[in-house]
Amino acid sequence: MEINVFKLCSGLKVLGYLMILLVAAIIAVSYHAVVIVTCGPQLLRGGAHSVLAFAIIMIFHFLLIMLLWSYFTVLSKDPGSVPENWRAVLPEEALETGSSLNDRSDCVVATDGLDRRAFCNHCENGKPPRCHHCSVCQRCVLKMDHHCVWVVNCVGARNYKFFLLFLLYTFMVTTMDTLVLLPGFINFFGKAKNHSSSPGDLAVIFLAFVLNLAFALSLLCFLVMHASLVSSNTTSIEVYEKKGAARWKYDLGRKKNFEQVFGTKKALWFFPLFSKEDVDKIPALHGLDFPIRADLES
Ligand SMILES: [Zn+2]
Ligand SMILES: [Zn+2]
Repeated sequence: MEINVFKLCSGLKVLGYLMILLVAAIIAVSYHAVVIVTCGPQLLRGGAHSVLAFAIIMIFHFLLIMLLWSYFTVLSKDPGSVPENWRAVLPEEALETGSSLNDRSDCVVATDGLDRRAFCNHCENGKPPRCHHCSVCQRCVLKMDHHCVWVVNCVGARNYKFFLLFLLYTFMVTTMDTLVLLPGFINFFGKAKNHSSSPGDLAVIFLAFVLNLAFALSLLCFLVMHASLVSSNTTSIEVYEKKGAARWKYDLGRKKNFEQVFGTKKALWFFPLFSKEDVDKIPALHGLDFPIRADLES
């Protein structure tokens, strides 16, 4: 039975690539409706209409570039895999020299001593804290948040920021599209009666408006949820685990929690990039070690 379940899950991964085409199709429909059907003719009218249409087209293209940049970064970036024969180094072992760190039979204790799921039977490897096995990817993923069908990848320690930026820019683009297409949508039936626009253009405006509104509303819910997760340094998987704990051990305070995901360089917060300094200094960005709040450190 288990084999069938896993086959089904890897099938989902293949099916997932169709999602890239779906994302491309939604972007193409929105682009056509906003830039070509709605703003293009306004641009040629002259005066204030042209200036507004020009501004909308510029902002739209900027947001679209940021969206696509974040999308391809989260899609292509490894969310974090466990090094071969990984096992936690106990504090007393760190002082010893010559101890065998590759002995798999000892793979049952994690650094914080609390994680009982410290060995993955599927991968036959140690499991660092906050790591989970993804049944779609069929491997362990560091600080796994969830497997995202839209980006055909797991979201984990090393690509969570890029995923959040993808959410943010998609929300901004879809909200802007909804507002720009709203007058066209309101006039939909009037225009259809007067035959003042081609039926194809009206259909594109209608479809793009409904799609963008639906995405903007659902993305708003996701953004609010992830903002709360980032501010408390929790993953989607850890929410239930956190409920049982009086004080969440990874909660370092809002500012530090944010920096654990976005880095310390303000100039790079809105770009799918990290500074070399942050990559060197923030272990959470690698996904193997996570600082624990001072009052819970043993
Ligand atoms: Zn695993
Ligand atoms: Zn996955």
